[in-house]
Amino acid sequence: MRRSIATVSLSGTLADKLTAVAAAGFQGVEIFHNDLVVSSMSPEEVRARAADLGLAVELYQPFRDFEAVPPRLLAENLRRAEHTFAVMERLGATRLLVCSSVSPAAVDDDALAAEQLRALADRAARHGITIAYEALAWGRHVSDYRHAWRIVRAADHPNLGLCLDSFHILARDADPYAIETIPAEKIVFLQLADAPALPMDVLYWSRHYRCFPGQGDLDVTGLLAHVLRTGYEGPLSLEVFNDIFRQAAAMRTAQDAMRSLIFLEEAAGRRLGGASRLTPPPPPVVPTGFAFAELAVPETGPLGDQLTALGFARTGTHSGKPVELWEQGEARILLNTGSAESEDGPALAAIGLESPDPAGSVRRAEALLSPVLPRRRGPRDAPLDSVAAPDGTELFFCRTARPDHSSWTDDFRTGGCAPSSPPEPSGEITHIDHVALTQPWHHFDEASLFYRSVLGLRPHESLELPDPYGLLRSRAVSTDDGRVRMALNVAHVGSHDRDVAWQHVALASRDIVATARRLRTSGGAAPLPVPGNYYDDLKARHDLGPERLRLLRELGLLYDRDEHGEFLHCYTVTTGRVFFEIVQRIGGYRGYGAPNAPIRLAAQHAHSS
Ligand code: MG
Ligand code: MG
Repeated sequence: MRRSIATVSLSGTLADKLTAVAAAGFQGVEIFHNDLVVSSMSPEEVRARAADLGLAVELYQPFRDFEAVPPRLLAENLRRAEHTFAVMERLGATRLLVCSSVSPAAVDDDALAAEQLRALADRAARHGITIAYEALAWGRHVSDYRHAWRIVRAADHPNLGLCLDSFHILARDADPYAIETIPAEKIVFLQLADAPALPMDVLYWSRHYRCFPGQGDLDVTGLLAHVLRTGYEGPLSLEVFNDIFRQAAAMRTAQDAMRSLIFLEEAAGRRLGGASRLTPPPPPVVPTGFAFAELAVPETGPLGDQLTALGFARTGTHSGKPVELWEQGEARILLNTGSAESEDGPALAAIGLESPDPAGSVRRAEALLSPVLPRRRGPRDAPLDSVAAPDGTELFFCRTARPDHSSWTDDFRTGGCAPSSPPEPSGEITHIDHVALTQPWHHFDEASLFYRSVLGLRPHESLELPDPYGLLRSRAVSTDDGRVRMALNVAHVGSHDRDVAWQHVALASRDIVATARRLRTSGGAAPLPVPGNYYDDLKARHDLGPERLRLLRELGLLYDRDEHGEFLHCYTVTTGRVFFEIVQRIGGYRGYGAPNAPIRLAAQHAHSS
């Protein structure tokens, strides 16, 4: 099926938009009236540019406030329509979107609406144009697609059908099952958009908060499956109005859009089973754990001291690069002094994920438009495949300790500075529990869709956490078994000079009391101080008993609980952009200690000022 996107979904000039749409691999485009009117290109030039780029002009839109008006207004509306048809002929567009009227002049009369739409379709037919009638969720008299279908059916003209828009249908909670009763040839066009669940006026919600399918909370997959069951063969077209996408770079948004559409088609295909006509991308290879976290550091210095204090040992140096391997249990941290670009000091540069099929992981990532990076590989190194995540983090797909000995860790065993028998780690750390990545504010939705679609991670609830200098939006994504967990954060207020771009690696301890004591006595890594007020508040919130509370207070441990278990955690102070979190999950606790995030953020600000 042809993939299309509306020009309104992207930023820039019409020429920029067409270039971005074609570069992302779309075959078609909806031209927005406003994008054309403000463009210096004539309709003929737009048509030629689109054709050069291999893009079909699938639809022209919108044509507003047409139907169910008194005769005097009808004459005026038909005059407007003739002008629009003329522009469309010059553009080479054969479908016109007519949205249900919001005009106070429109009357609540379905028979009149049908009669006037038939007259419009009659004139459109003379230009080879078909009308796609769309029920706006806030239409004055027609706001439901089933109502629009009754009018279209009554009008009964071959050049008149429906435009179905997932936002307008799902935002009003209209039952999408009835779509399957509409003959495919009467569905002229399908527009797809998602939105986060927000209790607000539907017009405002639509104009500002639409997002690409998979980035919000609407069941766009279910809707697409209903439409495909009718036998609809027209384009699948994304139509998103969003304050962020209107500002973000068009090329990048177009790629994000295409990733969304591929992922949506895959999900709808799964619902349809054998009846699907969609070709799925290679399946996701769900990672089975963290192989390593790589920190770009100007020097080993403070982070090496912190790792030592936590009980890590430096077990090797890479044979060909200035990269040290630090290990404890299954937790592996790489300190890379060779990557220059961290002007804020240490930063989390790469994440190694255990993949049962690294080549399959890369094929999946490639099919979902993630840039595959050139292998950073010396002549003797084990092969490591990697892709770039939207925030620039490099994701490696690896298999640690394979029986055939081609593990990436082998490259560190022969390193020049490594002692012949590496020192033994001494602590309680068992593995990396999660990593937290800060996303640029305008790439947050893109990032969660990326991790969801490329790696097959499941998104969790979106949270807003109070920081002393803004609200921090946070969303976790994880595998079902919790072996890979990532927290994606974004600072809402980016203009403040205390911009929060912190990242952290959370290390699981089998005995966090022992690890916290180790930190306190080591001198190498002061834990982040926790205010006494926190423990007074904790006493009120949870009945922990005086002994336990005293221990938490003494060691600066934070506490949380959910219906599955308990969570104890603490932090090291920040170095550059990076800090470590030490966590202990007791029972089946599934969260990340979110209620304690404001304590941590306030302490970090206090400590870094
Ligand atoms: Mg629409
Ligand atoms: Mg955390």
